[in-house]
Amino acid sequence: MKIDQIDLYQIHMPLVAPFETSFGSKDHRNLILARVCADGLVGWGEYASDGPGYSYETVESGWHILKDYLIPLALSAPFSGPRECPERFHRVRGHNFAKSCLEGALWDLFAQRSGLSLRAYLDAGRGITRDRVTVGVSIGIQPSPQKLAEKIETFLQYGYLRIKIKIKPGRDIEDARVARSVLPGRMLMVDANSAYSLADAGVFQAMEDLDLLMIEQPLGYDDIYEHHKLQRQLRTPICLDESIHTPDHARMAIELDACKIINIKQGRSGGLTRAIEIHDLCQAAGMPVWCGGMLETGIGRALNLALASLPNFTLPSDLSASNRYYNPDIIDPPFDINPDGTLSVPTGPGLGVQIVPSRLKAATLRAATFRP
Ligand code: MG
Repeated sequence: MKIDQIDLYQIHMPLVAPFETSFGSKDHRNLILARVCADGLVGWGEYASDGPGYSYETVESGWHILKDYLIPLALSAPFSGPRECPERFHRVRGHNFAKSCLEGALWDLFAQRSGLSLRAYLDAGRGITRDRVTVGVSIGIQPSPQKLAEKIETFLQYGYLRIKIKIKPGRDIEDARVARSVLPGRMLMVDANSAYSLADAGVFQAMEDLDLLMIEQPLGYDDIYEHHKLQRQLRTPICLDESIHTPDHARMAIELDACKIINIKQGRSGGLTRAIEIHDLCQAAGMPVWCGGMLETGIGRALNLALASLPNFTLPSDLSASNRYYNPDIIDPPFDINPDGTLSVPTGPGLGVQIVPSRLKAATLRAATFRP
């Protein structure tokens, strides 16, 4: 498949409510969408890192790396499949979110060319993927533990099966206790986004009686080793997120017993190819995974749903309904949660979602077109 044209759009998307984590609060998202044309088809990819925060990648760095490095590489020769992307982009070190943006569009294109949904394309006739994905909701740090309790009650009414709360030093043990008190017997977890050190082990030991599903990324954003030391001190499973950028990182975490669960984000992993490799490694090791979110629009959400349809995604994923973050989303129809607490994986060709041109136009801050 020879790419004829790539268009980049930097878009500004207001969030329906501010989202606060241990590294700050956001009331909007700056994202990049890539529109890739080949063989008379159009594929879409999303760049979902508006760091520096969760990741070092910013919208400016993403635009630069895409425009000056990845797009010239993508236009330099035809692709025989999307799994070629990691090798094609290998000379660019890091910048995984930028790589995943183009790779996502190529998965969309190749699935469309096969006349298949991305889920069916990933399944390849093996019958291993599912058509619905169990989802949970991620709740940012609220003004007070009381407000957190109110927020949880609201999301339970929407049908989410698992609640995740963000924590930070000073807003941890009490928030977790309040959350547990309004969620007896339900799936509850905390996400620290790397806000603690090993010296804070007592904070997590104090949560041991709360029956948390997991504690996500308590220590350094690039650490695997100290998580292994912390996991030895805890019964509650540790889940790694920020630290796992490559299949090698996942293998190291598995070999060290640094965690019992991995949150897979295809953007953080540089695209679906590597994300699937991490999934397969974890599956072989008996380690469950789930799919994390980056507050994506419906484009990234559709890609994530196809990924999360793979069999080792046995824990609820952070893939909320569209209206959790955007109203309206850039796609139509939006994703809605099913009565059984799941999201349906799209069945149309490729990503199976439609961009609304007027919404894209209204959200666009800058655009650029690239041809061979
Ligand atoms: Mg996380």
